[in-house]
Amino acid sequence: MMFDHSPTDVACSHSTAGIACSLANAGAMKADILVVDDTPENMRILCTLLNHQGHTVRKAINGEMALTAAKAAVPDLILLDIMMPNMSGYEVCQQLKADPLTASVPVIFLSALNETFDKVSAFKAGGADYISKPYNFEEVLARVNHHLALRLALKEIHQLNAELEQRVETRTRELEFANAKLLEVALYDPLTRLANRVLFMQKLEEALRATHKDSMRQLAVLFLDCDRFKVINDSLGHSVGDHLLLAITQRLQHCLPADATLARFGGDEFAILLPQIDQVEQAIAVTNSILRQIEPPFQIDTHEIFVSVSIGVVIGNGTYERAEHLMRDADTAMYRAKSTSKGRYCLFEIAMYAAALQRLELETALRRAIALEEFELYYQPIIDLQGGSISGFEALIRWRHPQKGSIPPSIFIPIAEETGLIVPIGNWVLEQACHQLCEWQQRFSHNLSMSVNVSARQFMHPGLIEQIDRLLATTSIAPSNLKLEITESAIMDNPHVAAITLQQLRDRQIQLSIDDFGTGYSSLSYLHSFPVNILKIDRSFIQNIDSQSNNLGLVPVIINIAKTMNMNVIAEGIETKIQLDQIKKLGCEFGQGYLFSKPLNASETIQLLSNKPRW
Ligand code: C2E
Ligand code: CA
Ligand code: CA
Repeated sequence: MMFDHSPTDVACSHSTAGIACSLANAGAMKADILVVDDTPENMRILCTLLNHQGHTVRKAINGEMALTAAKAAVPDLILLDIMMPNMSGYEVCQQLKADPLTASVPVIFLSALNETFDKVSAFKAGGADYISKPYNFEEVLARVNHHLALRLALKEIHQLNAELEQRVETRTRELEFANAKLLEVALYDPLTRLANRVLFMQKLEEALRATHKDSMRQLAVLFLDCDRFKVINDSLGHSVGDHLLLAITQRLQHCLPADATLARFGGDEFAILLPQIDQVEQAIAVTNSILRQIEPPFQIDTHEIFVSVSIGVVIGNGTYERAEHLMRDADTAMYRAKSTSKGRYCLFEIAMYAAALQRLELETALRRAIALEEFELYYQPIIDLQGGSISGFEALIRWRHPQKGSIPPSIFIPIAEETGLIVPIGNWVLEQACHQLCEWQQRFSHNLSMSVNVSARQFMHPGLIEQIDRLLATTSIAPSNLKLEITESAIMDNPHVAAITLQQLRDRQIQLSIDDFGTGYSSLSYLHSFPVNILKIDRSFIQNIDSQSNNLGLVPVIINIAKTMNMNVIAEGIETKIQLDQIKKLGCEFGQGYLFSKPLNASETIQLLSNKPRW
């Protein structure tokens, strides 16, 4: 630094106020000044004057010397005589200005009054000012100080600018970094660092646009879901779950071509985009390679874990308008893969979309069906096989869809189960059946019983017992005449909760039947520990019975077991006299089936009861 700041200068740097401050303090500055003059007398006067001010003064007696001195150490100011031999002051000034090193040094020309001084040439050559000889000392000092202050101010401005630029650069870098971080959070999955749903959809849209431009072009989306991942997470912990997801990610990456995008959609869902394929077979090949890769067990910590995945594959071309539609279809295909057999893939077909849509329509209609009173109960008599009379009924629900007509329970009960609508629907059935029984008991016989099907979800619902208590209080039916039919899976899916409900039912003397017996878990040891009153032998066993008694299959065994466990047996689906005779011979107490009667509506049932039929 050429300028030696006085201590007071420090406080006012780095601001515009600082520049004004420099101007005011210029007089106190010690500067390096180069004086160029070939007249010794002039030189001496100036040097003495400037030395007195505390400046360092260097002397040059011609142009060449001046240039050499200025380049050797760049001065803060140059006082330059115009008239010199060999090289004029103008020329010296021009050369100084042409050199970037010295270009910014202010040059004040010294001119004698008798010399022909050309102000225009002086400023053209790059001079900052001029001083006339003979010197007026105050004027010389004023101009020198003025230009020194200007130079200092300029330097400070340059420095401030440089600092500002530096700061802007740093901030820009920080911002870029922050932006990159934000982008990463917005577009990538934090665990696997794979693309997330947002980024995947962007890429899919891009690929889809390409198919719109080129009708021959195809893409594929693979939607992948791990089967029973929740079980792994719940039993081994989330840390193991996370490591497993990372290991799965690695294996998936092995199977993919370079242009594929692998994304994690959260949880155990992954999506793969093959942006350009020539044939369906290409997508299937990738799918098969994924299935193969996933097959060997994963070693996570000390656990050996087998993972199976279900993959939905959809081929997209220009006929798809929107990326979401591709995802919807990939999802439908994935669910189809999951429901048919675990650990496989399914290629989307348009028929699946129709089926999914139809299901959705049904679900929507089902939500309104209770309020619109579209349900009706039918009753199928259960026959006491010894006496041949009606001992009770099984209530069977019917749905009259205003447009589609009668929809069988096998279609809508599973949907009601999945959506939870089974709870209000089941409540309605129970209510209706109990009131009907109450009415028929009063009119025909107090021994009549009513069997009501209770689905697993309804059975687990805490409101069930409450509702039963209310119904028993408001109707006069004896609890032992109410029979609930549940399947084995309703108990086995959650034995602990089931045990509590079963005990509460037993406390109330309500009868419990195991429906479709023989088709489910048939865990007899388990069954033994639950308070079950009745086994209903599944229709499929009865239907196999023909005149040959060797076709009885498991039926005799089931009946024997029931007897030793002190349970009653009902044979479902008796359609022929032969079946009835065989069943009776085996000592089965109750029967139900088309041979006696199909399920009837309420008024038909009243007619049947009035006829007092015997079989
Ligand atoms: P499920 O409990 O096994 O009911 C017996 C089914 O067998 C009834 O079909 C009945 O009509 C039919 N069936 C009776 N006898 C014969 C026969 O001799 N031959 C043949 N082929 N079939 C016979 P449905 O009414 O279509 O009910 C089907 C299933 O829907 C029921 O099977 C039950 O699981 C469910 N379901 C019906 N009503 C309800 C209900 O109110 N709540 C619940 N949760 N499920 C119900
Ligand atoms: Ca049943
Ligand atoms: Ca059944």
